[in-house]
Amino acid sequence: MNFIFLGPPGSGKGTQAKRVCEQLDILHLSTGDVLRDAVKNGTDLGKQAQKFMEAGDLVPDELIVGIIEEKLQSGQLDNGFVLDGFPRTVPQAEALKKMMDKNDKRIDSAILLDVSDEEVIKRLSGRFTCPNCGAMYNYPYNMPKKENVCDKCGHPELVRRPDDEEAVVKNRLEVYQKQTAPIVGFYRNESLLREISAEGALEEITDAVLKVMKEAR
Ligand code: AMP
Repeated sequence: MNFIFLGPPGSGKGTQAKRVCEQLDILHLSTGDVLRDAVKNGTDLGKQAQKFMEAGDLVPDELIVGIIEEKLQSGQLDNGFVLDGFPRTVPQAEALKKMMDKNDKRIDSAILLDVSDEEVIKRLSGRFTCPNCGAMYNYPYNMPKKENVCDKCGHPELVRRPDDEEAVVKNRLEVYQKQTAPIVGFYRNESLLREISAEGALEEITDAVLKVMKEAR
């Protein structure tokens, strides 16, 4: 089961990818998470990526494609995966196609989580993460059981991602429209695109995503 989740920032790609990957026991690969870890650990990749991320801009294609290539070569993608946040540009989508062909793999489908701009802004301004384990929460939709304490690992403080601040969110949405939205057409041409309305209850969206994934295989 090899899938790509597409959608604007705040469409719920990360949350839904985590939920379905746990259920299906396949790898959730978020390039955003890989980059945030690299920044946290001060690696070369992190140092190169940090300024782009802080501005809400995209990190150069070569750096990102290198991450995916390394995961493919190390066998981490062999038992099925959901790519969350990659590809983000048409050249990344083309590079992925080449890498998959070379490794005798194929994408089952690219699932677009559809949400309005208004909803995206509402969601991103209410988003909090656990700095310890990466769990995500959304006020008022998906709250931790105890205020400001992570349900998953018990860490006593949830934080906002720096790139969820309002000015950066605006830039991320513009970047999405300009650089990422064109890949929807790319996957439509490949007959791999599936669309899901991602407004509504978290569990219902997960069920809809799982249904599309099972049908696509
Ligand atoms: P995300 O968590 O997917 O919203 O990603 C956070 C940030 O990481 C983005 O705003 C970009 O700066 C960077 N990033 C993540 N994935 C990619 C990608 N595929 N291409 C370029 N930049 C990326």
